[in-house]
Amino acid sequence: MLTQFLHYKFYLIFYLLINAFIFCNNKYITDWGPLLIDNQSLTIRDEEVIHLVDNHILYMNSIFGFPNKELFKIIISDNPQLQSVSNIWDWSLGITKGNTIIMKDISISHISQNRFMQVLRHELNHIYLNKLNAKYNIPRWFEEGFSMYYANENFLSNKLLIANNINNTDMFIIDQLDAKFNSKSKKQFNFAYAYSQVLFNFFIMDYSELILIEVIKDIKSGHIFKDAFYNNTLLTVNNYNIKVIDNIKSNFWWLRLMDFPSFLFIIAPLLLIVAFIIVKIKNYTIIKRWKLEEKLEELKDHEN
Ligand SMILES: [Zn+2]
Repeated sequence: MLTQFLHYKFYLIFYLLINAFIFCNNKYITDWGPLLIDNQSLTIRDEEVIHLVDNHILYMNSIFGFPNKELFKIIISDNPQLQSVSNIWDWSLGITKGNTIIMKDISISHISQNRFMQVLRHELNHIYLNKLNAKYNIPRWFEEGFSMYYANENFLSNKLLIANNINNTDMFIIDQLDAKFNSKSKKQFNFAYAYSQVLFNFFIMDYSELILIEVIKDIKSGHIFKDAFYNNTLLTVNNYNIKVIDNIKSNFWWLRLMDFPSFLFIIAPLLLIVAFIIVKIKNYTIIKRWKLEEKLEELKDHEN
């Protein structure tokens, strides 16, 4: 009898352990549907994550309205070896696949907590777009641009990267961007990412956020991206591409001057000449003043 009881006890403990493992993710209710958090971080607490998520959901809903309410997950991983998840895991800070965000914990990404939260906002924006319409894909440049814009990621380094390739028009073909995103080259990926930021910012500048809201509305109601874009801008993406290249050429040429080391190297002799002229002018006025004072002294002596 006792051995039988111990036998059952063993199964009971085993059952509880398995359940504890399965349900170790904490479940929360949000306005975008249930959220599971699997947090392996020692520094970032669930409460901080949920606070940011709730605030961001409120912010996005206030602009674009509610998306479909479906379960989504946030995993904060301290495992640096997750290349199986994505080929860009090595150099990314967070990735989103379908309804799951995987964030690199700050113990392996070595970024500040503020930057971590900014990346989390970026990934939540991907979730928002993924929840709009399961049937059609939104192009990657629009997804990334949107996600950066609504996470306040407006990096000067991205603009500089675009400015430095200003004469390489072939690189600015929107249709070829997805291939760059999927390439294993970090350089190609970074360029695609930087260009997405610039493309999206130009979109907002050219058409305003109100037009963007209409594009999102059309996607939500079942239009494919191309149609939603055309209906609200009266331009095909290809024609918009021509406009963007012109914009880059007229707005970004001067940014190349900000490539600091070479820029300083070019203007150093000019700075020296300007400094030389200033010193010369200053000396000339001092000498002139001294001569005048000398003359006045002489006159005074004569009068005396
Ligand atoms: Zn992204």
